[in-house]
Amino acid sequence: MYSSVLEESQNPEQINYTVDVITKKQINCETIMEYKNMTKYEIIKWLREENPEELARLWHEADNTRSVNVGNEVHLRGLIEISNHCVRQCAYCGINIKNASISRYRMTFDEIIECAAMAHSFNYGTVVIQAGEDYGLDTEFIGSLVRHIKEEFGLAITLSLGERKDTELLSWRKARADRYLLRFETSNEQLYELIHPPSNNIKIDRVELLCKLRNIGYEIGSGVMIGIHGQSYENLADDILLFKKIDLDMIGVGPYIPHPSTSLGKNIKKMNLSSNLQVPATELMCYKVIALSRLICPEANIPSATALATLNLTNGRETGLCRGANILMPNLTPVKYRSLYEIYPSKACIFETAQQCQSCIASKIHAIGRAIGKGPGSCKKRNTGNTDVGKICSKF
Ligand code: SAM
Repeated sequence: MYSSVLEESQNPEQINYTVDVITKKQINCETIMEYKNMTKYEIIKWLREENPEELARLWHEADNTRSVNVGNEVHLRGLIEISNHCVRQCAYCGINIKNASISRYRMTFDEIIECAAMAHSFNYGTVVIQAGEDYGLDTEFIGSLVRHIKEEFGLAITLSLGERKDTELLSWRKARADRYLLRFETSNEQLYELIHPPSNNIKIDRVELLCKLRNIGYEIGSGVMIGIHGQSYENLADDILLFKKIDLDMIGVGPYIPHPSTSLGKNIKKMNLSSNLQVPATELMCYKVIALSRLICPEANIPSATALATLNLTNGRETGLCRGANILMPNLTPVKYRSLYEIYPSKACIFETAQQCQSCIASKIHAIGRAIGKGPGSCKKRNTGNTDVGKICSKF
């Protein structure tokens, strides 16, 4: 097998073009099952693939795998961006603490409940409660919010509140929060330290934290930004393999979009890579990562990210749905706050009301011949207990 030859190499990036020549024929013969066990070098090959016929095959296999494993329903997760306060200094993110040019907001309990009520009335199965790492959203506030949403509307609840204390995560789980979303952003430790400096000098390993979340009963979601400065093809292939290793329930990937008020956006902090090694932050690259994630983690829930709509408002999200994704995240955040949750500039749909988002998204799903999912749309393998997570987590 060619991969064993490649594994002898010290630097897979340098031999990548040779891989294309050696493997094209062999990869053509692969079956869907073999895709699941793709090697790092096969993944790199696909990430570098430009041939439209080969890419059409990738989209076809990913769509097929999606249909067989998670069906034709597109589940809707109503997104509520409850606060843009953040204690972190992430080099990529527009709501980082150092950005003095944005006004900060924190939604009230009642405002958040109103959004959850809207999710319920639109038949969304889930609300995603997201914020910067904001300790003003304390244990009790989030706990009572979760309890209230569960009792009143019975919705599934995904929390995405950053690196919070174990006691808080446990207490929110006890309040019956279902899922936790925490992107590990990149599996390259050096790049991670550069773009995501620790808070108060305390380094948290996000992969370890994800495993803790899994062990206390959350479905776990993670992912990366595609094309962030310093991300090589090899790094991105490692990221995709890590999705599989942690056995993620949800995989959220989207393009890195530079924000001018961040150190990365201003080119102050940058890990320079030569242009042939740097992953481009393109729409095409996002589709490749969605498709490869689907082939390698067939049962995961994979959103077609809102950030894709920033690159292609007309049909970015639909295209993602046709290339492996099965989830959309309509925005429920009140319009007066939307533009303030500016993690990156030119976010799509910031002036649309929740009702407008709902009808726009429903028409997109119907236009591609898919159905809107009913119920919480939980990860199938968690429902069937089909996981070897105990074994995996004990490694971390
Ligand atoms: N504070 C929580 C956390 O850190 O997980 C959740 C909020 S954080 C703003 C949500 C995600 O936004 C991050 O995980 C990151 O991947 C994404 N993000 C931030 N800045 C971005 C940028 N400039 N381009 C694309 N995605 C970005």
